[in-house]
This record gives sequence, C-alpha cells and structure tokens, in this order.
Amino acid sequence: MGRSTDLILAFDLGGTKLRAAFVDAQGRIKAHATTRVRQDEGFRGLIQLFKETADQLPKSKYKAVSVASAGPLHPEKGILLDPTNFFTGDQSWGVLPLVRELKKVFRKPVRLENDAAAAVLGERWKGGHGRTKNIVAMTLGTGVGVGAICNDRLVRAGQGLHPEAGHIPLDINAKDYPCGCGANGCIEAFLAGSHFAHRLGRLKNRALSGQEAVALARGGDVWVQEAFREYGRQLAQAVRVLCVLFAPEVVVISGGFSHASSLFMDETQALLPKLMERYREGIDLLPKIKVSKLQDEAGILGAAYLALQTKK
Ligand SMILES: [Zn+2]
Repeated sequence: MGRSTDLILAFDLGGTKLRAAFVDAQGRIKAHATTRVRQDEGFRGLIQLFKETADQLPKSKYKAVSVASAGPLHPEKGILLDPTNFFTGDQSWGVLPLVRELKKVFRKPVRLENDAAAAVLGERWKGGHGRTKNIVAMTLGTGVGVGAICNDRLVRAGQGLHPEAGHIPLDINAKDYPCGCGANGCIEAFLAGSHFAHRLGRLKNRALSGQEAVALARGGDVWVQEAFREYGRQLAQAVRVLCVLFAPEVVVISGGFSHASSLFMDETQALLPKLMERYREGIDLLPKIKVSKLQDEAGILGAAYLALQTKK
C-alpha cells in the first residue's frame, strides 16, 4: 500500500455516516469503509465507531489521523461545539473533545477540520481546477456547507472558527424557509436538499426525500421540474452573494444534490450573469460554475491534505 509514511487515515463524519479512508501523498484513496452513526450510543459510542470503521480497512501503517466533520467545531482546539446533527432522545451532546479522545484510540497526531473547509481544500488539490487561487466549494446536501480559498489561503472567521456562509440570509422575511439555526431564509434553508424535499412534500401532502424529488422530476412530473428550476434560480442568488463576498474564479458544487444538477444548473448559469452585471467592470467577478468530479470524496481528500501539510 505504498510507503507507510505516506498514508493518512482520513475520516468524514456526517450526521448519519462515518467514512474512513487511507489516502496517500498523491491524493489517491487506497481503501475506504463506511458505517452508520449510532445516535443512541452517545459520544462514547461515536469514538468506538471511529475505531470499528478504521478496523474495516486493510491493516496498514499510517502517519496521522485527520477528520473532516460537520460543524460547528473549533479546528485548533479539536472540539465539536454541540453539533446540531447529534442527539440522543431530545438531548444534544454538548461540547465534545473529539481530538483528545481519538488520540487515545489511535496514538497518532489527530487533526480536525470543518467539512466545508476540507471540501474546498480537497477540490483545490484534486478537483481538476487548474492553478486557481480563488475558489469556493458549496456542498448541497442535508445542509449547505461553504468553504472558500482566497489568494491561495483557506478563509477563516474570527476566533479560529469557520465562516458559516450557509447561514447568510437571502430573505429574512421568508417565513416558509425556516433554518435550523433559528433564522429564516438562510442560504441553507433555501438550498439544503432536506429543506427542498420538505417544502415539496408539504405542497404534495406527503413526506418526500431529496432522492424521491429527483426521481419525480426525472419521471416527468412537470410541477416538480419547475420546483427544481426555481431551486436553480435560488442557487444563482446564493452564488451571487458568495461572489460578492469572496471573489472566487471558480465555484464548485458538490454533495448529494449536485448529482441532480441537470435539473437546475441551466437556470443558475442563465441567471447568474444578469445578477452579476454590476460586478464585471475592471475585475470580472463572474465565476465559472462547475459540478465536482470528486464523487463526494472532496472532504476526505481535504482532511488528508491538511494532515500531509502538518510538519511533524
Ligand atoms: Zn441558518
């Protein structure tokens, strides 16, 4: 499996799944495994799950462990900040010292990074976007993650935190678009696959998943097809905000909903130049919009990239 010193044990922790992979210094995924998160077993169970998932990989030496996780979290302190994904009953799990506990399990250096930050690092490393120094990655999944690299550096917010651009409101009066963060009309409330499916389900009077919505549109439901086109126009509005904020040359879309991009991306591509008309003089802020080629591995690759950069 290559020189042992080249390998990183990288994880991608989401609300429902934990994925593990060995990644080498060239960004090749050598082996991977996926397990389901068991919410009822709490934080102890989660740490145990990291071990079980790693044990499913072929035995190999590796130099470090790196975790991309849904936030909120603090990368330097290595802690999860009462993650919104994890509940046992109606009890949230509070502040979790993830890095400290994983060091005890693996006895290696351990890094933690916000999954949206890891995704943009993975895209720049292996996404095939050339030498661009300015790139935004949007992950359209259960939630919406946004990571940005500007002037070749990962963009951080104050206090070492990740800039939670998915919670920029597009419309604070959008009462039909409540967000998990407590506000109305955030980018995430408009564009998360789960929110989209929920709104659609309410209008159709039955529970729908994102995948079912995609299947209905592909099956010829013109009403759902129009809902996707509306989604594409909302995506253009969100991309406009991110362009004004971060001035990326490339915006790359990934996550579960990116696989349905043929249902909405034409609308996004058509509307965005109109929305950006006033931002094209001198320096043209209209970016290229691309769909990720990394098959949802950007986060795990970005986590590995970070560990490879760490001099130890
Ligand atoms: Zn929000």
